Amino acid sequence: MYKAPRGTADILPEEQGYWRFVEDRAIALCRLYGYQRLDTPAFEDSQLFTRSIGEGTDIVTKEMYTFKDRSGNILALRPEGTAPVCRAYIEHGMDNLPQPVKLYYLAAIFRYERPQAGRYRQHYQFGFEAIGDADPALDAEVIEMTWQFFKSLGLEHLFLYINSIGCKACRPRYLEGLKRYYSAHLAGLCSDCKARFGKNPLRLLDCKKPTCYDVAEEAPKSTDYLCRECKMHFEAVVGYLDALRLPFDISHRLVRGLDYYTKTVFEIQPLGEGAQSALGGGGRYDDLIEELGGKPTPAIGFAAGMERVVLNLKKHKTPVPNLPAAQVFIAHLGDEAKLEAVKLASTLRRDGIAAIMATGDRSLKGQLRQADSIGSSYVAIIGEDEVKSGVVTLRNMMTGEQKTVSAEKLKDFLESKR
Ligand code: AMP
Repeated sequence: MYKAPRGTADILPEEQGYWRFVEDRAIALCRLYGYQRLDTPAFEDSQLFTRSIGEGTDIVTKEMYTFKDRSGNILALRPEGTAPVCRAYIEHGMDNLPQPVKLYYLAAIFRYERPQAGRYRQHYQFGFEAIGDADPALDAEVIEMTWQFFKSLGLEHLFLYINSIGCKACRPRYLEGLKRYYSAHLAGLCSDCKARFGKNPLRLLDCKKPTCYDVAEEAPKSTDYLCRECKMHFEAVVGYLDALRLPFDISHRLVRGLDYYTKTVFEIQPLGEGAQSALGGGGRYDDLIEELGGKPTPAIGFAAGMERVVLNLKKHKTPVPNLPAAQVFIAHLGDEAKLEAVKLASTLRRDGIAAIMATGDRSLKGQLRQADSIGSSYVAIIGEDEVKSGVVTLRNMMTGEQKTVSAEKLKDFLESKR
């Protein structure tokens, strides 16, 4: 028996209503804020990711699905969505377009992580990127867009955390301060954090283990080390967010797990969740496009994990619209009737009416049961008499009421009930 690989999941038909709902809201949101869709390949040159995400990050050291293809190219399944968007921005000369260029994606993401609730080896992200503008008003707009996304889904009790982690000019001084502080606390840290101390000290701040958490609480704050430019930028972002009346908190421990972030970072957390709780996060990455070979180009983006969004919708019993079932089920009795049913189903579908024809040779009772389980509103029954008179017996599945309708009138009737 084959099973879906560990850490992956099938999204079954009964789940699709949630997924369609979230995707529809995401696409509607992008239209409102002027974002256009970009789809990139599921795999890229692995260096695109190692360079951008950072050599010392968990994603690059432990989680990438890297492979050599038959020509010897070293490729990696996409472990995040921002670097491919930047690659496409550079490759297609989007710097010649009016800036900022606003792009969004809905894409599968691959990370070799330890599977648990809300954490998979293949998951889906909805993400958007605004490339080519350093204006703090854009940071505020992206953060507000994120907030509106979750609001539009009907999700409540969310926390919005923001922070600024500075830039190339001021971060080194902060990292020194951080290392100085942490060198006095090394003994009490978990083994992961001991390793991070040398490789990626910023990440010490977001360790969720209780002992490390307490140490992180007292650690120096990045906002106390910002250069003049970063400080002014952050103050402006906070000012805009206040003006928008967004309920945010500044979290000094928020650093995000990828190296490319600069200045503003932000995250959305649901109430009372554990380590795998972030519904989404993002931030500025003003150096990334240049690091990938483009011109210096400031940018900011966000990504949400679709599975976690769906889990939260279910947990809070948030109603989502049902996906439409076939409007009519065509039942038949006898060979001649079956021939008419085949023709009728084809005609209705060409007229844009969703129709399902019973296949096989079930009894009428069996066919009605099938229609009921599919959820179609009407059943058109064709027997010998109906064939002779060129009519169908139309059964309303809600009321059980039946009436005779001519085959020609059936389309008009079903259209009027749509
Ligand atoms: P990140 O790129 O790590 O900032 O992730 C963005 C969002 O994707 C997170 O906030 C989560 O909602 C979601 N996410 C990240 N990793 C996983 C995973 N392994 N499984 C499911 N969702 C994930």
